[in-house]
Amino acid sequence: MDKKRVYTFGNGKAEGKADMRNLLGGKGANLAEMNLIGVPVPPGFTITTEVCQEYFDLGRDRVVELLKEDVEAAIKNIETLVNAKFGDVENPLLVSVRSGARASMPGMMDTILNLGLNDEVVEGLIRKTGNDRFVWDSYRRFVQMYGDVVLGMKPVNKEDIDPFEAIIEKVKQEAGVRLDNELSVDNLKDLVKRFKAAVKAQTGCDFPTSAVDQLWGAVMAVFDSWMNERAILYRKMEGIPAEWGTAVNVQAMVFGNMGNTSATGVCFSRDAATGENLFNGEYLINAQGEDVVAGVRTPQQITKIGSQRWAERAGISEEERASKYPSMEEAMPEIYNELNRLQQQLEDHYRDMQDMEFTVQEGKLWFLQTRNGKRTGRAMVKIAMDLLAEGKISEEEAVLRVEPNKLDELLHPVFDKKALLSAKVLTKGLPASPGAATGRIAFFADDAAKMAESGEPIILVRLETSPEDLAGMTVSEGILTARGGMTSHAAVVARGMGKCCVSGAGALHVDYKNRTVEIEGHEFKEGDWISLNGSTGEVYEGKVETRAAEMDADFAKLMDLADKYTKLKVRTNADTPHDAAIARSFGAVGIGLCRTEHMFFEGEKIKAMREMILAENQEDRVKALKKILPYQQDDFKGIFKAMDGFPVTVRLLDPPLHEFVPHDIAGQQAMADQMGVSIQKIQHRVEALCEANPMLGHRGCRLGNTYPEITEMQTRAILGACLELKKEGVKCFPEIMVPLTGILYEFQNQETVIRQAAEKLFEEKGDRIDFKVGTMIEIPRAALTADRIASRAEFFSFGTNDLTQMTFGYSRDDIASFLPVYLEKKILKVDPFQVLDQKGVGKLVRMATENGRAVRPDLKCGICGEHGGEPSSVKFCHRVGLNYVSCSPFRVPIARLAAAQAAIEDKK
Ligand code: ADP
Ligand code: MG
Ligand code: MG
Repeated sequence: MDKKRVYTFGNGKAEGKADMRNLLGGKGANLAEMNLIGVPVPPGFTITTEVCQEYFDLGRDRVVELLKEDVEAAIKNIETLVNAKFGDVENPLLVSVRSGARASMPGMMDTILNLGLNDEVVEGLIRKTGNDRFVWDSYRRFVQMYGDVVLGMKPVNKEDIDPFEAIIEKVKQEAGVRLDNELSVDNLKDLVKRFKAAVKAQTGCDFPTSAVDQLWGAVMAVFDSWMNERAILYRKMEGIPAEWGTAVNVQAMVFGNMGNTSATGVCFSRDAATGENLFNGEYLINAQGEDVVAGVRTPQQITKIGSQRWAERAGISEEERASKYPSMEEAMPEIYNELNRLQQQLEDHYRDMQDMEFTVQEGKLWFLQTRNGKRTGRAMVKIAMDLLAEGKISEEEAVLRVEPNKLDELLHPVFDKKALLSAKVLTKGLPASPGAATGRIAFFADDAAKMAESGEPIILVRLETSPEDLAGMTVSEGILTARGGMTSHAAVVARGMGKCCVSGAGALHVDYKNRTVEIEGHEFKEGDWISLNGSTGEVYEGKVETRAAEMDADFAKLMDLADKYTKLKVRTNADTPHDAAIARSFGAVGIGLCRTEHMFFEGEKIKAMREMILAENQEDRVKALKKILPYQQDDFKGIFKAMDGFPVTVRLLDPPLHEFVPHDIAGQQAMADQMGVSIQKIQHRVEALCEANPMLGHRGCRLGNTYPEITEMQTRAILGACLELKKEGVKCFPEIMVPLTGILYEFQNQETVIRQAAEKLFEEKGDRIDFKVGTMIEIPRAALTADRIASRAEFFSFGTNDLTQMTFGYSRDDIASFLPVYLEKKILKVDPFQVLDQKGVGKLVRMATENGRAVRPDLKCGICGEHGGEPSSVKFCHRVGLNYVSCSPFRVPIARLAAAQAAIEDKK
């Protein structure tokens, strides 16, 4: 038998149901389901998403042929149910034609209402309803929507306004009215005439009069809308494949614009912003379709409490509210009661917060859509925990209900809601790192540091940032840049720090010389107040109060649940006691990566480091390193103390030495003066350190193997710190990690140096402590020879940043030049530096883990790249059987939730 392309619904029956959303789209599946559970829905039918694909493969004519018979039968079905006839003049059936994909794509595709009207039918319908205003209002809407969606009546230039809107504006002006519903019947007639003339002028065609022609035109236009720019862009953002296609829903019209006993609205079974279990929504009397969201008139609240809250916010007295802006609960109590009953029924049925559309036609309520509502991160957590407490979902379901990435919103400071009401938005940049921040402007890192000393909050404002600004970024509440995208230095570093950042705000004119910034005509000086919302990209004038993120009871409960089901442990990447403490408060159970390079940078340390680099023999090098040792030991003490009772993996020095010497003349001169040598000598050394390909150069354990005294010093600093802390009763579990191993002997030599240095230290101190020696697996050769390396290494930590770089052969710092094209052409689905490439890099991870454990069954394995905080990568790590993932402190809860979800999905 030929496959079924059309599914009907109506009058309590339906051929589809809720779990058929892949075939019927979300809207179609739920329209069917609502019929089945007794919710009043106008009858109609759904053309499947498969037909959308057929349309793009076979073309319009063939698809009409394939559909014709079924569509005619389905229309008959509607005609019987509503007792009207499609295309008839005296008793016409009007329909809507609506798109509906698998995943909800709100407002992304186009809908046509009131289809079936023409000049004759208009007269017939007026005779039938006696309501010429309603009929002409419906007609002008139809011509407008059909003209826009099917006939392509879009603005010619993007600067132009919509041609129909332009006409409406003009007619309103001529009539001297402000709102659509103030237009007279003659105005509406006039609109239709002018709309049609505009269609003729722009397209050269007459407006189609036959209902059947109109219908096919609309159906094909819905398919076409799947490929319009908005839809393509939205799919790209949400990662929705083009192959899914959209379904088409054709449905008998019900009219909210038939007078004052008619209305249309949208409602939510709970609050989508806060998660509060409170039915809420908006409606408009005598209106149709999207009027509520389109803002043509100000909608009114559905519930009394919602209306009262709204009035309070707007500063309107209860008296005025009750008379001028009554809620539906007050104005149409009977319908409200039914609406309230049905919304509860729908939520109970779907066991999740519902987002619904309804229309009231002359006192009768109809539902037109229901779906699981979109919500903020906070609401997502609260609703899941509430539904669990209400006994509507299980613990496992509650854990699966929360999108890990959405937790991000809960972990950062937010603006005080009251303060935000009076705040003025200056401009918008990219939402580079979430959270809210307010502070005084500083333009330079060192100024920021100085200003911060007085305890004032700082916003660092720059054209863009670079590693030199790090110290300034650290002391700032937020970072604002004029240039750079979501992966610019400022964005990446800020996200790592969990700091608010707005990047690429092009409207900024930064004048470093005068220390001013001009934003849309407003000038700000150093020290002036400014505020940022890193979650939206908005930049506010002046000071806007913020509130610290509160780990509320629901969040804590969710995390407890996550821990109950998870197998994979979550550690953090932290280089300072401060970061370690934050991560612990978010539930990290150890440090998976403590980088040590920053410990060589500040003040005296960089001097000693440079001495070491300039040293001509080992003896001088050792001398220089001795000066660094006490500083490092102190740094380690702070970190181990913050992680009392948990393991800390310390990576030995990793970056190439040239990163520690200055590359500009002034810097070199300063260094020469400091060291008491000639600038030429400095320059020679800098030149000698210069590499054609530093990423593949003298770095990682290659440094440790050529200068074992560095490894020795670091080992003494790490274990020395632990021995001192042991006396204070702090429990340390040090894991010393050799970076960039590719060959067993590279690791083995380092291991020997470490163990010898440790023994020497233990002997000197007359005390000892257990420690592990392991390695990063970040070079493909190390993964390929994991069995050999595991014969000596006690743990593996997959450094998936470098491993991705070397497996793909993509330079992490240069990928921006081709990545967008690769994504565009679908050569790559995602950026492999953000989402672990499971097929390639992941295969190396899996293989190395298995082969390593074959030799050493208790081999501890984890990952410590950016991927450690990315949900799909975390889930992969669970499936591979890693012991832990390690991520930046602010991603710890996200990773914990993803790990729990992986364990639950595994069981199913
Ligand atoms: P979207 O997916 O953008 O929400 P919809 O297809 O849901 O588009 O429709 C747009 C608007 O038209 C909604 O307000 C919807 O409730 C309304 N609508 C759609 N079909 C009908 C109909 N048959 N009768 C009355 N209103 C309808
Ligand atoms: Mg809708
Ligand atoms: Mg590395």
